[in-house]
Amino acid sequence: MANRDDVSRVLAKCVTCGSVYAARQWPSGDVQPIGSDNCSCGSTDFCSIDESGTDPAANDRNKE
Ligand SMILES: [Zn+2]
Repeated sequence: MANRDDVSRVLAKCVTCGSVYAARQWPSGDVQPIGSDNCSCGSTDFCSIDESGTDPAANDRNKE
């Protein structure tokens, strides 16, 4: 189970200031922003945003 290849690409939102980062989520549930250990505000608490691989540039295509 502890296979590093099982990480998911997610968006992580800082629970303190709301900044969103590209991140990886491990099967254990840990969310780690890519390229940094914490938010620019100093928080290390992130929640994942499950976008199913949606690219931020694809927001214009987001429809109901
Ligand atoms: Zn923050």
